[in-house]
Amino acid sequence: MSSRLSVCLLASESVPLSKTGGLADVTGALTKYLHGAGHDVRLFTPCYASVARSAFGALPVAGLADLPLALGQHRYSFSVLRGVMPGGAAVYLVDCPALYARPTLYTSDPDEHLRFLALTQAALSACQRLGWAPQIVHCNDWHTSFAPLFLRTRWRAEPLFGSTRTVLTIHNIGYQGVFAAEQVADLGLSPSDLPLLHQGDLAAGRINALRHGILYADAVTTVSPTYAREICTAEYGMGLEDSLRARAAVLSGILNGVDYEEWDPRRDRYLPAHYDEATLAVKLRLKHRFLQRQQLDAAGGAPLAGLVSRLASQKGIDLLAEVLPDTLRSRPLAFVALGTGEPRYAQFLRSLQAQFPGRVRFHEGYDDELAHWIEAASDLFLMPSRYEPCGLNQMYSLRYGTLPLVRRTGGLADSVQHFDPASGSGTGIVFNDFNAQGLKWGLDAALDLYQRPAQWLRAQKNAMQQDFSWARQGAHYVALYRKVIAA
Ligand code: ADP
Repeated sequence: MSSRLSVCLLASESVPLSKTGGLADVTGALTKYLHGAGHDVRLFTPCYASVARSAFGALPVAGLADLPLALGQHRYSFSVLRGVMPGGAAVYLVDCPALYARPTLYTSDPDEHLRFLALTQAALSACQRLGWAPQIVHCNDWHTSFAPLFLRTRWRAEPLFGSTRTVLTIHNIGYQGVFAAEQVADLGLSPSDLPLLHQGDLAAGRINALRHGILYADAVTTVSPTYAREICTAEYGMGLEDSLRARAAVLSGILNGVDYEEWDPRRDRYLPAHYDEATLAVKLRLKHRFLQRQQLDAAGGAPLAGLVSRLASQKGIDLLAEVLPDTLRSRPLAFVALGTGEPRYAQFLRSLQAQFPGRVRFHEGYDDELAHWIEAASDLFLMPSRYEPCGLNQMYSLRYGTLPLVRRTGGLADSVQHFDPASGSGTGIVFNDFNAQGLKWGLDAALDLYQRPAQWLRAQKNAMQQDFSWARQGAHYVALYRKVIAA
């Protein structure tokens, strides 16, 4: 059972090469985990203009220079560079300046779908020229979702891929890669394969990349078990729930892991002092130091609540707008927020700061160091998300003994248990309904719990003992790969 697996990982972004969000964290960490566990994992990702090639020792590969690539009428030439990821895994950078030399990773250019169809096709072509037969092609999000269908159509006659199986991971179903049906020729399918496309979408004038991954991958995963169930419903499925329900037998959820080398108060490189369960007095000192630096006043030992978030409707910032002003007026509490995103949410946080000087501090921007400080110094971490495929910050908060206040959805539901004073079990505060009443109930419960230091301490210790490391989560992917290969 412990044979070495060969895994071709396809990703539009991967840490530390390129990043806009959690997809990059997961594909980077999974590559590292698989290599560390002794598997032959090879990551294929675009060589964007921003990728620091020399930092990864990226060099041309014999036989993989200036190769032709056809997508319908479109003709490109690409080369593949081989580099090494931190930890030692191989990365193959698909170099095609015509497609990837742009100011940002993603664009709203008319050829956006071609940029990632090219990645998919170039990766399979490179495998063929290397004579490498991956047992698993693991594609991620809409960008590489056509790999399973391509293997059944364009690559059907290639014996090298005869026993290759496919896995699709959905990191956020909100992004589906939809393009116009008139562009169907760009897929390069033969006329006899066209019936394999989703006919309802075609009739409606569109092609949905993610849907084809869902329909044709041997296994479909998403980043938490609860989100896997939720996306089968109209409320969360964003129009793909019917296809997901049709594949329910092969759909599962695997929670993302946390990189505890980065996120652990025992060794956090941004903190001047470190702590664990036995030395929580250090956390209190960090809080006071932070409050002072932020010119915040938590008079009488009031708790500090933190928020680090993209300012998007997914994150429930509108609920905070409904509830926080009242709570700040009626109860002792200080609040620090860090985020960027939609102007209306930034405006709300700015006005909250103006309304409660010395008790609310808002930093608009992206700041890794400040994010670490907020995790360490806060008592409570707010994540009232409308939906949350997995979420990382609540898992970081647990490790920092900063009790997460979350809505029971997606990965939040799978990683935080509501604290029960009677039994002393639980790791945070969990509310059910996405409305102001739900959040108000949660905030009141959290502030009441804070008034009972022995119980708060019990919850903190429970939280700090949780383990969401990649060593655990990565093993679930390996088990899934083996299951798919054996099926
Ligand atoms: P999502 O991927 O939906 O944005 P996650 O909780 O899964 O949410 O991951 C967000 C990651 O981005 C976390 O590591 C978080 O600390 C970080 N992050 C988000 N916004 C900021 C910010 N403004 N400054 C620093 N880090 C941020």
